[in-house]
Amino acid sequence: MHKDIATPIRTKEILQKYGFSFKKSLGQNFLIDPNILRNIVGHAQLTENSGAIEIGPGIGALTEHLARAAKKVVSFEIDQRLLPVLEDTLSPYDNVTIVHSDILKADVAQVIAKEMPDIQDIMVVANLPYYVTTPILLKLLHDRLPIRGFVVMMQKEVADRITAKPGTKEYGSLSIAIQYYVSAEIAMMVPKTVFMPQPNVESAVIRLIKHDAPPVQVMDEEFLFEVTRASFVQRRKTILNNLQAGLPNGKQKKEAILEALTTCEIEPTRRGETLTIQEFGKLADALYPTFAKHS
Ligand code: SAM
Repeated sequence: MHKDIATPIRTKEILQKYGFSFKKSLGQNFLIDPNILRNIVGHAQLTENSGAIEIGPGIGALTEHLARAAKKVVSFEIDQRLLPVLEDTLSPYDNVTIVHSDILKADVAQVIAKEMPDIQDIMVVANLPYYVTTPILLKLLHDRLPIRGFVVMMQKEVADRITAKPGTKEYGSLSIAIQYYVSAEIAMMVPKTVFMPQPNVESAVIRLIKHDAPPVQVMDEEFLFEVTRASFVQRRKTILNNLQAGLPNGKQKKEAILEALTTCEIEPTRRGETLTIQEFGKLADALYPTFAKHS
């Protein structure tokens, strides 16, 4: 086996060789601890027949661990300066493809079809650029990729919100936007000391596994997310007040909102953070005839 990229000494050597300077604006905090990398990859439960999609390989620290564990790895990197570095550091691995692209603009489904045509089990595994964690996850979920799930590192605060259960202060529209598609749990906490440079925030790795079927059937998913967003605009307000303020012409349509809440057996004085995803689903369907855009 080759020497790990992710030791402090080797990382420094590589950075020096290429005169690389970190760009904070691209969320560049590289991992320098092979144990953490092994743990991250372990949580993805890859086999020699699996595929891995990575966002932001950096100098290849996680990429090489994925290359050892999976059949094929495709990594999307936005920073052109890293391309020659990766070509060098990942030269021992013939199962890695680097795509030079902003993940938010990439046609990931097409890349999977091209690069992993015969692979059934695909996981997204990444130490995400923290400044775009949520847009990346929402994009990849909305793209409805043929994947089993995600094992991804992010800012702990965001991890807490994504994995939050009803009745907690972290629970909100982001929890629902994600948990509608996947089961979500924190896999491990990660200390600052394993990064170069060290980030200012705490980090956590979360594991998201796609549901076979959504937890609730709704008429219109977009409308469900609109209702949940409206329900959390002012967390201390009741669901009735938030919906009145947040739905189009909600103020004038109080009666329709009350009727929908009654149909769903939801007390109008409850707060959004107490509603389960199933309750939000029912509520969205009950509100749909009055408030959906095209109605
Ligand atoms: N995987 C490496 C590691 O763990 O050491 C680097 C992780 S670093 C937190 C994030 C990486 O994502 C950087 O390499 C950065 O250049 C890249 N990146 C930032 N924004 C991106 C985007 N929109 N699309 C693709 N890659 C991006």
